[in-house]
Amino acid sequence: MELTEREAALKSRARAFAEAVVAPRAAEIDRTESYPWDLVAALREAGFLGMTIPEALGGRAASYFDAVLVIEEMARHCAVAGRICVEANMGALGAVMAYGTEDQKRLAADLVLGEGDKPAICITEPEAGSAATEMRTRAERRQGGWVINGRKHWITGGGVSKLHLIFARAVENGVEQGIGGFIAVRRGEGDPPGLVIGPRQHAMGVRGIPETVVELRDLFIPDTMVLPSPGGFRRGFGALMDAYNAQRVGAATVALGIAAGALDHAIAYARRREQFGRPIAEFQGIQWMLADMAVAVDAARAMVHRAARSRGPNGFPDPVLAAKAKILAAETAVKVTNDALQIWGSAGYARDNPMERMVRDARMFTIAGGTAQILRNLVASDLLGMKLPQTRDGWLRVAERRAA
Ligand code: FAD
Repeated sequence: MELTEREAALKSRARAFAEAVVAPRAAEIDRTESYPWDLVAALREAGFLGMTIPEALGGRAASYFDAVLVIEEMARHCAVAGRICVEANMGALGAVMAYGTEDQKRLAADLVLGEGDKPAICITEPEAGSAATEMRTRAERRQGGWVINGRKHWITGGGVSKLHLIFARAVENGVEQGIGGFIAVRRGEGDPPGLVIGPRQHAMGVRGIPETVVELRDLFIPDTMVLPSPGGFRRGFGALMDAYNAQRVGAATVALGIAAGALDHAIAYARRREQFGRPIAEFQGIQWMLADMAVAVDAARAMVHRAARSRGPNGFPDPVLAAKAKILAAETAVKVTNDALQIWGSAGYARDNPMERMVRDARMFTIAGGTAQILRNLVASDLLGMKLPQTRDGWLRVAERRAA
């Protein structure tokens, strides 16, 4: 897909920034496993955080496609920078910008644009991963707001994020209303009371962003901080997941960027490494590996771009295109980074070189944000024109409905 002049200029600005500012920091961020506040400041200054925020709130009103162009360039060099750009343009931020009240939008915009915040999205629980709707976290109605109790885990940005979009079951007078999104802003330990950052979950890759448990202990959320998603609590989860499709496209883009970066490294190494008296690039076995890697990366990019340009429910990317793009990009990243490491031989296996980091960084994308299996269920459901319940009794309920 051809880029417009403006898009091409944005991409080349992002590329120049990534090469000059991001690339030199990538290995250190991975080694120290610390959140790169310096990069956050530089990304914010360069206008890459909150670029999708409307101009009226200080943003650039950039499209998700624009964000994708930037994210790929960052992730080519550093998956951490790529993921920060995803979460500071899509995810929870996108949900607030689409559904939030004016005050909520302004709050989110100020946090991201003013403080470089990377909002956190809190869905997953120890007993509710792929079966996210089985979450146990409850928000109980109280005078003037809601009191939340529950335990989330694998929350990206736990301890560094300020804005938290917390998914919880809304319960009023003992009656469940559905799943809603509740906004909390963390200013530090104990603020607000009841938003407790639990232990860090030490991850295989993308180590510069903490993944943590987040405990909600009588966390009070005033009515003004309930995200008023369309259809209210009854349709709350569906509307929140519509917003999540943008995050999926963003995650797919980080995977794409890692794969594209690994391919660049593989090409460069194949040209300079000599064995049997000639560059290994002269061996057909290597040439065909590189060709297959390039085909896969281009295919993934085409799918990611198509998904990013699409418009599905509530104005977010089409869910099926987002799922297809994330499956392909995530699996491409796993394969291409491994092949790139192979081309580097023992040097690829060494921790001093970027290849082993890229293999580790690539691995999360078939898991986080909807596993490759769950996304295939979504694609199959669309192909077959059928709901595909996954619980044992789900099919019985479908049969009952058909019989009625
Ligand atoms: P499970 O659901 O236990 O799945 C285990 C295996 O069973 C998987 O292979 C899965 O595909 C398969 N499986 C399950 N059900 C089916 C089915 N019906 N059909 C076929 N196969 C099935 N969550 C958040 O809320 N916020 C975050 O910021 C966040 N960040 C994350 C960052 C990372 C690095 C990771 C690894 C996870 C993150 N998550 C986050 C959680 C992530 O969304 C979940 O890990 C994911 O939804 C899968 O849940 P699970 O890990 O419990 O796996």
